[in-house]
Amino acid sequence: MSSNWEELWGLVRQMGAKEARGFDLTLPPSKPLTHNEGLSKGVKIELEDLDSSQAAGGLLSYKGNQVLVYIPDQGNNLAGVLKNPESGKKFHVSHCSTLDWMQAQNNNHRYVATNDTSGMFDLTGGKGTEKARGELSVCKNCLKHLNYQDYRGRNHEQKKIFNSFSLIEFFSTYSSLFKHPYTRSGRVRRNHAQAVGETQGEWSASQAPTVCSNCAVRLPKYVNTLSQNGGEQSAPTTHLCVDCNRRKNWHDAEPVLIDDMRAITRQRREQGLLQDIGTWKEAYELADPAFHGLMKIYERQGRSVPEVGHPLTDDNGMVLEPELALAWELQRSGVVATEAEQAQYESNEWVVLTLAQALMESQEDH
Ligand SMILES: [Zn+2]
Ligand SMILES: [Zn+2]
Repeated sequence: MSSNWEELWGLVRQMGAKEARGFDLTLPPSKPLTHNEGLSKGVKIELEDLDSSQAAGGLLSYKGNQVLVYIPDQGNNLAGVLKNPESGKKFHVSHCSTLDWMQAQNNNHRYVATNDTSGMFDLTGGKGTEKARGELSVCKNCLKHLNYQDYRGRNHEQKKIFNSFSLIEFFSTYSSLFKHPYTRSGRVRRNHAQAVGETQGEWSASQAPTVCSNCAVRLPKYVNTLSQNGGEQSAPTTHLCVDCNRRKNWHDAEPVLIDDMRAITRQRREQGLLQDIGTWKEAYELADPAFHGLMKIYERQGRSVPEVGHPLTDDNGMVLEPELALAWELQRSGVVATEAEQAQYESNEWVVLTLAQALMESQEDH
């Protein structure tokens, strides 16, 4: 039995199975799969081995895992790169124009994919005889492509965004487009059921649902309890859902995966928290951070404030899962994270773009 869910979907589509619509996309377990192993150390790949550019919002994905790619070989400049990482070959985090160009040139046989967020890379120099671990800088075209932290809109602050780029913050921001967690040194991720508080034990242990002090969603458990003054017993505590926690504590927050984010969005919707979004500020607070780059572009372009987590129904009145991440009901348009989600809406009269398509369309923005 294949453990690769996307492959399975591909087969279903090849068979022309219309029944695929309305199928529960949350079914596959989000437990780490064996193909995740090795990525923390780095896997040699060719660029065509990467998943489709539509698979995960234009980010780099390898067998469903969130990755970056880099070229270990720094030629004759290894010593220089160790002193000044900016002089090295940049690592990529998205299907940017540079990476596309490299692939078109067939210049794609020297890459390593990794999901290690330490920011340290295994580099080589000379004729491959010199080896060292060192830092590299992120590709600026990747920041532009994703409009990461509104890179396109903040012309005077691009240097600052580039200089303060943190891989762990980046991976945390986009983890909700992926099924598998990225590598955080020395930590093991809890499973999906724990993340959204679906385990029976958690219910009884906590007696009552806890309210997230940031977004007000009620979850049975797996809110993080943070002590506000360094962990002393008497300190007032703050309860945060895993999504709010990653926004505030990205450096040590657990990865929030696609199933976690869908579950939290569903809870927020069912509890009426998504009904009265009237401003962009409110939309940012409740929309998946992976969509913020696109939202910043739309806000600048003067679009109306989107609905977050908009449910659509199929021909039989069944609510399709998951909801549209962003939606404009008047225009009947919406944006979703992945191709698999988009496929669900094929026969609907709404125009539903993937995040990757929406970002590509908005390239004329700058
Ligand atoms: Zn790039
Ligand atoms: Zn929250």
